[in-house]
Amino acid sequence: MSLYVYKFGGTSVGSVERIKIVAEKVKKAQELGNQIVVVLSAMSGETNRLIGLAKEIQVQPTDREMDVLISTGEQVTVALLVMALHELHCDAVSYTGSQVKILTDSTHTKARIREIEDAKVRADLDSGKIVVIAGFQGVDEGGNITTLGRGGSDTTAVALAAALKADECHIYTDVDGVYTTDPRVEPKARRLKQITFEEMLEMASLGSKVLQIRSVEFAGKYNVALRVLSSFQEGCGTLITYEDSQMESALISGIAFNRDEAKLTITGVPDLPGVAFKILGPVADANIEVDMIIQNIADDATTDFTFTVHRNDYERAKAILEATCAQLGARKVTGDNSIVKVSIVGVGMRSHAGIASTMFKTLAAEGINIRMISTSEIKISVVVDEKYMELAVRALHTAFELDKVTEER
Ligand code: ASP
Ligand code: MG
Repeated sequence: MSLYVYKFGGTSVGSVERIKIVAEKVKKAQELGNQIVVVLSAMSGETNRLIGLAKEIQVQPTDREMDVLISTGEQVTVALLVMALHELHCDAVSYTGSQVKILTDSTHTKARIREIEDAKVRADLDSGKIVVIAGFQGVDEGGNITTLGRGGSDTTAVALAAALKADECHIYTDVDGVYTTDPRVEPKARRLKQITFEEMLEMASLGSKVLQIRSVEFAGKYNVALRVLSSFQEGCGTLITYEDSQMESALISGIAFNRDEAKLTITGVPDLPGVAFKILGPVADANIEVDMIIQNIADDATTDFTFTVHRNDYERAKAILEATCAQLGARKVTGDNSIVKVSIVGVGMRSHAGIASTMFKTLAAEGINIRMISTSEIKISVVVDEKYMELAVRALHTAFELDKVTEER
């Protein structure tokens, strides 16, 4: 007998009709002889609606009360699904996070799971019940309701799968898997049959928003086999798993991009110890996240320093940098908030030379100027002008033959 944790996202439970479809699906899975735990999100749009209500009353509600409020969406869907299962004559029971209990720390609105008491869930499963658990929420030591951050139901599902040692954790969503790139940018994008945790983490942090990043980290840490599938169509989706020698290794698994980038440069900085700290310290103090950082080799005892930030932080970061510029007696600050980051991701690049040069050659052939480059073990990112984004993604997709990825991979 296999144990599965199935998570259904907001659109999959967005209406009573859809909830009934989910119930049918879960019933079928159980009838095949499996034990099923279901984790649900709130109905699509519901969490945003609740946040909107709060904002009509208070500009800055306390995080504790926000959690009491926004955790309600999931309580609605779990009860409705269990009713739908009862209608189908299935034995099923719903629990909120605190009923389970899913114990978290006390960081309201972005709590971390510490422990799951799974005895009750196991007993229910053993007595033949389908167990339906509210995603996104937990409870702290003091009995306060907490939530896990937007998209947190994914993490609830993975954490439960880890605790229960489930055979697989299925994330049912409105796309049928993880693609080589966003099909809206490159219609020739293909679904990947398999991708490693590391690659998925890079893809997710680079803006591919299929799963909450934390859920992928969690799955990697506890070795939970994670599968992304469509709730609306049949198929085996994409399995996110450990790299194994059997996996026919493609050089590149995907192309990710991030549109919301901006870069700032400070030139003529005196080349002295502590300068990087003096430049980036105040940026960090303002809670602005810095991504790529490049410092040039010093020429005439001065150097240039460039970094990227989220586009929303551009004006703030620029003002901070201008103050630093005056303080350091540097030459000037320039910036550009119409840049994007395009990255190729793949564990295959660890063992293959020449991937970077293929990337640069491809971009050059399209006349695309590379503004910045950064690399990690399994990723190469370039910053290019916004207007070249689609072209860059499509050209790289073709160059690395991602349109030829077969379903067999
Ligand atoms: N309902 C929550 C949200 O919208 C959690 C989730 O859907 O995973 O962020
Ligand atoms: Mg989601």
